[in-house]
Amino acid sequence: MKINGHSFYQHSLFSALMAADFYGSITFAELLQHGNFGLGTFHAADGELIVLDGQAYQMLATGEVKLVTKEMTTPFASLTNFVSDLKLEFNDISFQELEKELVAKFPSLNIFYAIKISGDFKEISTRTLTKQTEPFVVLKEAAKEQKELTLANISGDIVVFWTPKFANNIIVDGFHAHFISSDRKVGGHVFNFQAKHLNVEISYLTNMDLHLPQTESYLSHRIDSSSLLADIKQVESQRKKVAD
Ligand SMILES: [Zn+2]
Repeated sequence: MKINGHSFYQHSLFSALMAADFYGSITFAELLQHGNFGLGTFHAADGELIVLDGQAYQMLATGEVKLVTKEMTTPFASLTNFVSDLKLEFNDISFQELEKELVAKFPSLNIFYAIKISGDFKEISTRTLTKQTEPFVVLKEAAKEQKELTLANISGDIVVFWTPKFANNIIVDGFHAHFISSDRKVGGHVFNFQAKHLNVEISYLTNMDLHLPQTESYLSHRIDSSSLLADIKQVESQRKKVAD
């Protein structure tokens, strides 16, 4: 096996979001210098971020999609300058089936992947975080207020970052996927879909540029490491339950 891996940029930690650090700690002017493809959230968990071809979009819980401006900030984002290493096509496939197919095609489970998907969907279900007010509550609580959306007969693009198990506290392990429609009018964090046709491109990521915030809230946040993995699992199992 011989692969030629690329770099990605990781701003802050999923474990900091879990611990309610929703304070924006990097501007988009700076963030977008580190990649043209990515996902994340916004200050105060105000919606879901997707970056495609260098354009950043804010997908709000109200269902609106806005173009992100340079002065806006984020507490958590993953970005890369996307390089396609492997192209695949699928027909009539669900999100869970695609996950299994892609994992089977990965050259290793010990590196990261960025995955660019474009396709036609029979149905796709998304969730979007709702804007939090201070004092912020932990993600486990904030996630209970997510807005759900199910879209039928729609085409669009999905940005995925796949994280190996060993990096569970940095980014949630497994698939993290955000969707935006082709007309860029609707989208969110993907829970499930049934696709008619998908074009999938995979980028092999072997170098993480981990950028830790210097904000007071980041520097002082406390992780309850005894319950962190169980709490992440709970947030994830809420997601899985919704996906079924
Ligand atoms: Zn997400």
